[in-house]
Amino acid sequence: MKGSCFCGQVQFEIKVDKVDAYHCHCSICRKVTGSKFNTAFTLSAEHFSWFSNNEGVKTYQKNGKGFRHDFCGNCGCTVPNRYQDVMFWVPAGLLDDEDGIEVTKHIFVESKAPWDVISDELDQFEGYP
Ligand SMILES: [Zn+2]
Ligand SMILES: [Zn+2]
Repeated sequence: MKGSCFCGQVQFEIKVDKVDAYHCHCSICRKVTGSKFNTAFTLSAEHFSWFSNNEGVKTYQKNGKGFRHDFCGNCGCTVPNRYQDVMFWVPAGLLDDEDGIEVTKHIFVESKAPWDVISDELDQFEGYP
């Protein structure tokens, strides 16, 4: 499956046919997306490759630690980032071929916005499962 940012400067491929994604309702994901949750998944680094040099990618870490937000310096779009060295965190909305994405859960439901009403049957977790 291939993915790209809004302007196309950042491009990547994931070498799996199917991914298990989640909707994260935490306060950081809400800020980063400007919406009620962030739909994403993680996968092992061996299944991920970049197709772009990513010179224009910028990183923001609040107080220099904790949640890391990588984004395209040209279009501002959230892009994948390497996570715990052996994993990649990938925002599901960047994938151009969406057939293999299955969302199975809501996470950090405890910190969701009061106006965020979950109306599906997916599993819900207060924090990280
Ligand atoms: Zn871009
Ligand atoms: Zn989150």
